[in-house]
Amino acid sequence: MQDLGDQTGFPTRLTPEMRALADRPGVAAQFLPDLRELGSVAGLADPIGDAVHSPTPGLTHRYPDRVILRVTLSCLVHCRFCFRREVVGDAGPLPEPDLAAALAYVAARPAIREVILTGGDPLSLSERRLAEVIDRLNAIPHLDTLRIHSRIPVVAPGRISESLAARLGQGKPLWFVLHVNHADEITLEAEAALARLTRAGVPILSQSVLLRGVNDRAEVLEALLRHLLRLKVKPYYLHHCDLARGAEHFRTTIAEGQALMASLRGRLPGTALPTYVLDIPGGHGKVPLGPEYLEKTAEGWQVRDPKGGLHIYHDP
Ligand code: SF4
Repeated sequence: MQDLGDQTGFPTRLTPEMRALADRPGVAAQFLPDLRELGSVAGLADPIGDAVHSPTPGLTHRYPDRVILRVTLSCLVHCRFCFRREVVGDAGPLPEPDLAAALAYVAARPAIREVILTGGDPLSLSERRLAEVIDRLNAIPHLDTLRIHSRIPVVAPGRISESLAARLGQGKPLWFVLHVNHADEITLEAEAALARLTRAGVPILSQSVLLRGVNDRAEVLEALLRHLLRLKVKPYYLHHCDLARGAEHFRTTIAEGQALMASLRGRLPGTALPTYVLDIPGGHGKVPLGPEYLEKTAEGWQVRDPKGGLHIYHDP
């Protein structure tokens, strides 16, 4: 039988670990294709404008001090809401001439202080190839930090070997940003993989996408965020779902997202709260979406507390 994912142009792909959890609604909806993807009438091929700011293949330079380097367009899972779903596939690693051009671009620009490895999933590369890329980045003196954005510790935790974790903990400070959307994704093996990273001295942040039917209820997000804190993972971003084609059914309204964040502020410590953000379509960057707690009035700043009470604050 033909894979429904093939009909959408984005084949189904799951790791054995995620297939084992596919009876859980919060997991299944993320990876199993849905007929609603075929009825997509809106959406963009490149929702966050990677291509608009790409000086060399695989590189995006949107902000002055940092670049995104897509070291591969392969992933071990295909997330149905992915904003790069039209380019993610089996392309393998970034070809050497393109990698060399990207590294030369970075090396020639001292204003660039951080390189963010993304993809696809950078950890779908072999350990040897990833280490080689990191070594070449470590050799660029003006880079302060590196960053890796990955879903691997959750979807294929066995790939975070002790040796890979140790490798990521050496050299320039490397921040690991884990993509995870629901507490049901986090198995005991995933917890062990994250522990290997933290033991190796790799700080971990999380990013999640707000997804209708997956994590758009306060109690679901609260369970995820509390779980992450227990694993020493600092919640970093909650992304408003991008305008990817075929992902309309996942998208909430911004007002719904703001209401969720306001409700979480009353339930969780600040350490557990991510920033709710929108990548402005067209490549114009990322901005926090609120909710707003402040309003300028004739009496001074009107501040709304987590329970909805209003208070006046005066600047000195
Ligand atoms: S792992 Fe990341 S890049 Fe790959 S399909 Fe999922 S969201 Fe997209």
